[in-house]
Amino acid sequence: MKYRDLGKSGLHVSELCFGTLPMGPLQANIPLETAADILVSAIDQGITFFDTAQMYRTYPHLRRAMAQRPGTDLVISSKSTAEDYQTMEQAVQEALRELGRDYIDIFLLHAARVPAAELFVKRGGAWQCLQDYKQKGYLRAVGVSTHVVQTVEMLTAMPEVDIIFPLINDVGLGIIGGSVADMRNAVDHAAAAGKGLFSMKLLGGGNLLAELPQKIAFGRAIPAFSAHAIGMISARELEINLRIFNNQPLDAEMLAGLGKGKSWFLFEPLCKHCGKCVKQCPNGALLWQDNKPNLIRENCLLCGYCASDCPEFAIRVK
Ligand code: SF4
Ligand code: SF4
Repeated sequence: MKYRDLGKSGLHVSELCFGTLPMGPLQANIPLETAADILVSAIDQGITFFDTAQMYRTYPHLRRAMAQRPGTDLVISSKSTAEDYQTMEQAVQEALRELGRDYIDIFLLHAARVPAAELFVKRGGAWQCLQDYKQKGYLRAVGVSTHVVQTVEMLTAMPEVDIIFPLINDVGLGIIGGSVADMRNAVDHAAAAGKGLFSMKLLGGGNLLAELPQKIAFGRAIPAFSAHAIGMISARELEINLRIFNNQPLDAEMLAGLGKGKSWFLFEPLCKHCGKCVKQCPNGALLWQDNKPNLIRENCLLCGYCASDCPEFAIRVK
């Protein structure tokens, strides 16, 4: 496993970042104890970098794993979609409390599709809160997670931004405002300006899992990225990713069946037709038609964010 500096943030991370979204309640919802066992195994095998979010509801999973390996130096990155100062303050305090830590290494504006021109207009209060909490010592580094090329470009010019967590994959699935080449240019400039970058969605939220080694190789070949967040839900997936990031061989048997089965599903009897899920989708993958959400399959990143906003638990992504 390689370990790298995350830009000029002062943080040092494993190249493989464990993404906790898929194991949590928005997606596979695996039992807490099983999830913690996988996370502990990841720690034992050299992963020191973990990605979570207020929305993912995986703080308990990480807390339980960290309790089993006290004193281990881990870098935890979280984020929140909070829009104003007060709700971001609550989000940071929730992370500190639920993770059982005195500080969070990285806290980001969870911004996905928010256009660059609107980001700090709509979320200025939330951003100010992150800077204040960094100043007080509760956060070590702050930044933004985004799918938008122009947002990466804008953040590059802002000295107060430590970390950028952009979406990239070799087919451009989910990239907004430009091509794969445009996003590559943007991340190159950001890295040259000293920003710490780690990639998200090299596997397109699971859509590209069938070609996992090739998709990860694409990301690893981009020097701008210090690390890559890869979601994992099983010991088998952990082993495969550890082999890739340790440059060890993989046989076809290990990879067989990867990428089969994950899908978006609406359980119609539970749907109360409120439309919240359509507004929540960051990828324009839900169309309101016939008084219910309809999936535009090619736009869906299987992120599960719509499921998190459904008060009736009518959506499943697993
Ligand atoms: S419909 Fe949208 S929010 Fe729901 S899983 Fe797909 S991309 Fe994510
Ligand atoms: S949020 Fe849930 S209840 Fe509301 S329209 Fe979507 S699926 Fe139906």
